[in-house]
Amino acid sequence: MNPKEHGECFVLNDGGEVDLDLGNYERYLNITLTRENNITTGKIYQHVIEKERRGDYLGKTVQVVPHITDAIQAWIERVARIPVDDTNEEPDVCIIELGGTVGDIESMPFVEALTQLRRRAGKNNFLQIHVSYVPTINGEQKTKPTQHAVKSVRSAGLIPDLIACRCELPLEQSTIAKIAHHCQVEIEQVVAVRDMPTIYQVPILLEDQGLVPLLRETLHLEGVSIAPALKKKGDAIWKRWRELTITKDHFYETLNIALVGKYVELHDSYLSVIKSLEHSAMRCRRKLNIIWVDAENLEPHIRAAEPARFHKAWHDVCTAQGILVPGGFGQRGTEGMMAAAKWARDNKTPYLGICLGMQIAVIEHAREMCGITGATSEEFDAKADDRVIIFMPEIDKATMGGTMRLGLRPTLFQPGSEWSKLRAMYGEAPAVLERHRHRYEVNPAYIEKLEQGGLDFIGKDELGERMEIVELKNHPYFVGVQYHPEYLSRVLEPSKPYLGFIAASAGCLPQITAELLQEAQEKLANGVNGNDF
Ligand code: GLN
Repeated sequence: MNPKEHGECFVLNDGGEVDLDLGNYERYLNITLTRENNITTGKIYQHVIEKERRGDYLGKTVQVVPHITDAIQAWIERVARIPVDDTNEEPDVCIIELGGTVGDIESMPFVEALTQLRRRAGKNNFLQIHVSYVPTINGEQKTKPTQHAVKSVRSAGLIPDLIACRCELPLEQSTIAKIAHHCQVEIEQVVAVRDMPTIYQVPILLEDQGLVPLLRETLHLEGVSIAPALKKKGDAIWKRWRELTITKDHFYETLNIALVGKYVELHDSYLSVIKSLEHSAMRCRRKLNIIWVDAENLEPHIRAAEPARFHKAWHDVCTAQGILVPGGFGQRGTEGMMAAAKWARDNKTPYLGICLGMQIAVIEHAREMCGITGATSEEFDAKADDRVIIFMPEIDKATMGGTMRLGLRPTLFQPGSEWSKLRAMYGEAPAVLERHRHRYEVNPAYIEKLEQGGLDFIGKDELGERMEIVELKNHPYFVGVQYHPEYLSRVLEPSKPYLGFIAASAGCLPQITAELLQEAQEKLANGVNGNDF
């Protein structure tokens, strides 16, 4: 998945590299998914071909219908039973997102499979939500695209039970009536999903339109028993959610964060990073303003070629309250990222380096603070003398797909790191689990020199071989992490490295750290553990 075409590649606990939508589901539903929750055409074909080679279909002609469509249904039914949260219970409801648009060539076998599944599941066990767009043209809400789309899905065999209409403004009653009439649904089955001041208010908008009783009724959920403790937890989450997302939003002070990256044209390339910054900004009661800086524009060669771009980029970096360098691949823009990291260090601006952003901070530190002027990464120059970032020994050099160091792995805080601001954010935990996706790492041969120069490697893997966290001591917040904490950030439980970064940028780090410590103690006293959103 090219980040500039498809958006971010999301990473799961089990190391599955999946579509970014799975990140949305994990964040909104507070669940943990596996690579099996992402079904692709490739996976299905590979599965069917393997079965055919094994001889499972001997004597039969293998075809898209029924073999591919059957495999899709069997996959869904199997995965739907796997527990996704700490109750460890089989889920009561499975949400299937059929991506793309009706009529897409790629999705035809999936449409057919779901049509069959609808019949097999039976009445009151299957509910189809059709998502459509209702544009406003010259002040008039147009229902024709929705009518056509519904006609198409119906002719493909899928019959919508609910029509969710994306729109800029509230839908007029006459528009709703028209959609209901032409699409053969009741008025209550048309849900208006209008633009909200923040996306976090959408669940509230849906609840206000009576979606919950409608789902409960259609899927006959009255019979599902929910343990009182779980119900209490859900109520508490919903209360906090409402408080955090609908109150006081106009009181927030603006916080300017420069995101210095390579794929800045398509903001979806950094979706989880943006979400983590948003979760953290909400917690700190600030209005987040992300300033997108193309790292290459900070490089000296742009100064002569395109001075306006160069100066604009530097103005953005110099005036930001915090600087973030996210993950990335390849050399383009990395000199600009290093220049931004240097600015952050010298000017005591909070800095957060994620994966590549951490490697950048290490290279820059080697060059500026340790006199290793030719320091670089093997990824940028495989033959350089001072490769302070190297290819990890166990990583496959020949097969590039799915072979990075992936998924959930532990980081242990090192003795002597008690001063660490990040460690305090994690509630003084001795070890943390975060998700990874990288091929390169800090070269162990340079650790001593780098530490002598003042960069502390405060977090390492369980063997002490792999550098996971760097931090500068005498700085308001200068943190680099080899992992991607953004994949585990939740709306009401922001990722700690991000929260520390946002709090430091907003000038409220001591207060937030104290609050977190208190919360951790309360949780301990109440016997609650784990991430509750
Ligand atoms: N390209 C770097 C590596 O493979 C960083 C990867 C990343 O930022 N996800 O190690």
